[in-house]
Amino acid sequence: MDKPRKLFIKTYGCQMNVYDSERMAETLGAQGYVETASPDDADMILLNTCHIREKAAEKVYSELGRLKELKTAKPDLKIGVAGCVAQAEGAEIMRRQPMVDLVVGPQSYHRLPELEAKARGGQKALDTDFPEEDKFDRLAARPKARRGPTAFLTVQEGCDKFCAFCVVPYTRGAEVSRPAPRVLTEARDLVDRGVREITLLGQNVNAYHGAGVDGDWSLARLIHALAGIDGLERIRFTTSHPNDMTDDLIEAHGTCAKLMPYLHLPVQAGSDRILKRMNRAHTAESYIRLVERIRAARPDILMSGDFIVGFPEETEADFQATLDLVEEVTYGYAYSFKYSTRPGTPAAERAQVPEDEKADRLQRLQALLTRQQRAAQDAMVGRVVGVLFEREGREAGQMTGKSDYLHAVHVRDAGVAPGTLAPVRITGSGRNSLAGELAV
Ligand code: SF4
Repeated sequence: MDKPRKLFIKTYGCQMNVYDSERMAETLGAQGYVETASPDDADMILLNTCHIREKAAEKVYSELGRLKELKTAKPDLKIGVAGCVAQAEGAEIMRRQPMVDLVVGPQSYHRLPELEAKARGGQKALDTDFPEEDKFDRLAARPKARRGPTAFLTVQEGCDKFCAFCVVPYTRGAEVSRPAPRVLTEARDLVDRGVREITLLGQNVNAYHGAGVDGDWSLARLIHALAGIDGLERIRFTTSHPNDMTDDLIEAHGTCAKLMPYLHLPVQAGSDRILKRMNRAHTAESYIRLVERIRAARPDILMSGDFIVGFPEETEADFQATLDLVEEVTYGYAYSFKYSTRPGTPAAERAQVPEDEKADRLQRLQALLTRQQRAAQDAMVGRVVGVLFEREGREAGQMTGKSDYLHAVHVRDAGVAPGTLAPVRITGSGRNSLAGELAV
């Protein structure tokens, strides 16, 4: 019996890359690979890359540079690059780093067995197609081993929005929704393996329209169907576009008890002029009205957002409009970044805002967002919330989990196992987490 080969996967970027790495490990697992936590004793190293930040590709090349030594010491070691930089750069990666054996895009990783065999045979293996066949149909069946209580589940990929700053439509392709029955099967399988909370993933997840037995299903319909699975206690989804928040999805926030009261709804900016230049296809006003409708359906919902400051041509007045929108909406969470050029996107060609102005605006925006986030956390003190415990905390006897609102919660002497969902009275609010006691 051949000695199992060791696979080291390094994952960059979004939750979908986390999900993809899991599926790639399972696919190579079916080829006899076992995962290792150290690149030093790997037989194959796979970098699952992200293209969302400036110089993303350069970071991958420097990482590959660091691996050169390992490859020199171990000539049979195979090095592969996957994910969005693989898709964007393709053969250029092998030209600049000849020691790379395999390059595979996010839509082709179901072909890893053939690519791995080709690389193992000493040939270069490159695949950045957008294949006709459904990747998920051909991926290895998921292993039956027990797993932790939370899981990601990709239901939609790609994006048709073409925001002026974003590479996703180019690296992940057009929007594709997985057939609803397949998603339900994978969800049941995850629940059988111990999962109690599933986060549905998509670059534009609320544009989901997967084929069902009786026509296309919306994301709301899929969520209601998932809620019918015994043992699945919590459902979340990310990432959404304001223009795809359909009436039935807003309604689901009010009627589906298993749909958690947390919504990540990026807006990026508060100035209509900049939203237009970003090709976001909505206004600040329509976004604010939409949030009001969502809050009417689920008054305690915690809103989360994404913001870009210093987008090309953004003036101080435009930025002030972003601060005004944040004041009006109030966020429990938010992710904010300085605009950075991404090769091949329309905005990359435009007049850039000076770096120091970007830095100043980011600091002012983050100061406001941090105040709001802290206030949202402090408001939880004294309340009883549901917590799904995931693992032991740093302190002895401490257990850690996430609340319905996705806050991290630590409980001392909880005496509960990972996977336990229990009511917790919040007793304290820290920098990025809450403290509590079991409310039983
Ligand atoms: S909606 Fe999101 S993924 Fe799609 S192009 Fe815009 S920023 Fe990118």
